[in-house]
Amino acid sequence: MLGGKGLMTTCLIGLLFLAAFMNSVQAQTEALQSSVKTAAQDKMTERKVRVQLKWRHQFQFAGYYAALEKGFYRDAGLDVELLEVENGVVPIDQLMGGAVDFAVADTGALIYRSVGVPIVALASIFQHSPSILMTRGAGDVTDLADLRGRRVMLSGGYMNAELVAMLQAAGLSLEDVELVPDDTSVDALVDGKTDAYNGYLTNEPFGLENRGVDFQVFAPMAYGVDFYGDTLFTTEAKITNNSDLVEDFRAATLRGWSYAVEHPEEIVDLILKKYNSQGKSRAHLMFEARQSIELILPNVVPLGYMNIERWERIAEIFTEQGRLKGPVEMRAFLHPSDDFDRFVDVLYRQRENIGAAVILVIAVLLVLHIASLRIQIRARTAELEVAKKRAEEEARTDALTGLPNRRCFFETASRDIERIKRNDGDMSVLVADIDFFKEVNDTYGHVAGDHVLRKVSEVLKRNVRAGDVAARIGGDEFAFCCPDSGASEAEALAKRLRDQMATQKIDYDGSQILVTLSLGYAQYQPGQSLDELVQNADAALYDAKRNGRNTIGSSQNKVREKAT
Ligand code: GH3
Ligand code: MG
Repeated sequence: MLGGKGLMTTCLIGLLFLAAFMNSVQAQTEALQSSVKTAAQDKMTERKVRVQLKWRHQFQFAGYYAALEKGFYRDAGLDVELLEVENGVVPIDQLMGGAVDFAVADTGALIYRSVGVPIVALASIFQHSPSILMTRGAGDVTDLADLRGRRVMLSGGYMNAELVAMLQAAGLSLEDVELVPDDTSVDALVDGKTDAYNGYLTNEPFGLENRGVDFQVFAPMAYGVDFYGDTLFTTEAKITNNSDLVEDFRAATLRGWSYAVEHPEEIVDLILKKYNSQGKSRAHLMFEARQSIELILPNVVPLGYMNIERWERIAEIFTEQGRLKGPVEMRAFLHPSDDFDRFVDVLYRQRENIGAAVILVIAVLLVLHIASLRIQIRARTAELEVAKKRAEEEARTDALTGLPNRRCFFETASRDIERIKRNDGDMSVLVADIDFFKEVNDTYGHVAGDHVLRKVSEVLKRNVRAGDVAARIGGDEFAFCCPDSGASEAEALAKRLRDQMATQKIDYDGSQILVTLSLGYAQYQPGQSLDELVQNADAALYDAKRNGRNTIGSSQNKVREKAT
């Protein structure tokens, strides 16, 4: 069990742990409030933020350009750098490798998460995925099922999970079609290199319409496959260590998106001026803007809205396709947007610490409780021991006179006689009885009789030696055990007692009461039992009574000494 020191140490560790935990919760809570921090404060120390976009610059990232151009990032104290995709860069790899703080990616992030990559979704900007499958209009593919045995272009990896799911919904597995290598140009479809091309609702249809090419679009949503599109991601470490930056960036980005969907022409102009790395036309960008805004759905749900059930459904589809390596704990994967959810999120992310703290507090309380129980038990045991001792004493003491009682006399005398037997020593027993005590009761009353008994006891107590025992063994009968006393010492004691009593008047209620004692003594004879010894003393007392009272009788020589 824990000693006092161990308990103190445990309590101390517990308190330190709780303090650390409270600090951590406070830090998280402060982070929640950071979105209302003033611009002036933030400007003081602009924090550098690098963002990996998912593709080359285009309207797809309009909200980020707007947040930069309109100073929303600056207002939040952020110095943001946007990086477009170059040379096969994978945004999530950039993010998890630490090259950037945030990345725009799609639902494939779930696959990373399922293998333990600590990536966290902050906001789904595109409420629906723009991925589509396109076929030539003049061709003989009027229905998805017609693609059976045909050439279908799908990019590798997880990229087209929603398209695969759409094919499955139409009754086609990947084995039912002939997959052809990915090509970034829709010309592959126009030139007949494939029968179905994986494109974006926001992009390829514009070019084909412009060129007057007839085409058909198969969108996953029409087949009940509804994936999120572009989503903003960061890392668990960023949320834990720099949650104010995460919240500030997220809030400023959504502010940017809010502006962009309200002012698409202005942002298209901005792209043309500053970001047109793809050389797109204004009309192309406006087409993209219109299509994108429909997928962002700013008027239907709050910007960036994420629904846990929808993410779970997406994970299910990945699982059905065998792309998810394990379950994804959505609460850890999603970083919620509203204050209450974020508070719950903080609690959730701190659940291990909270659990540990609760267990520790319970353990400390238990230890304290056990310690307090032990103290109570110790105190109670001490009380009981005192009570037991008192009860034992009471059981061996005469209540009226305070002298040892009959039981105590015989116990003590037994021990003494055993010792005398071993040591071959002397021992005497003396018994005394008040003469005519009934008359005292009769004359003065029972209370007076009690008083007399107490006074006689005081005389007896005063006259015994240390080691002798004077006890009240009956109504007006007393006995003395005198180890190491022979007959002569017993006789001397008897005389002393008899003489003292005979001369001591007892005051009671204005009267003076005189009582005498008759005494008998017997010396221990080798081989005798205690009973025999006491019987001899009794017999001597009987002799003394018969001899006229106020006398002493001896068992040995039956000498009777009449009081003078
Ligand atoms: P004796 O000389 O033969 O001893 O005469 P006695 O009157 O003393 O007779 P005995 O010893 O036989 O009687 C004892 C009396 O003591 C009997 C009883 O009324 C009285 N007595 C016994 N215990 C108590 C007591 O606790 N208080 C009082 N007041 N009287 C008691
Ligand atoms: Mg008597």
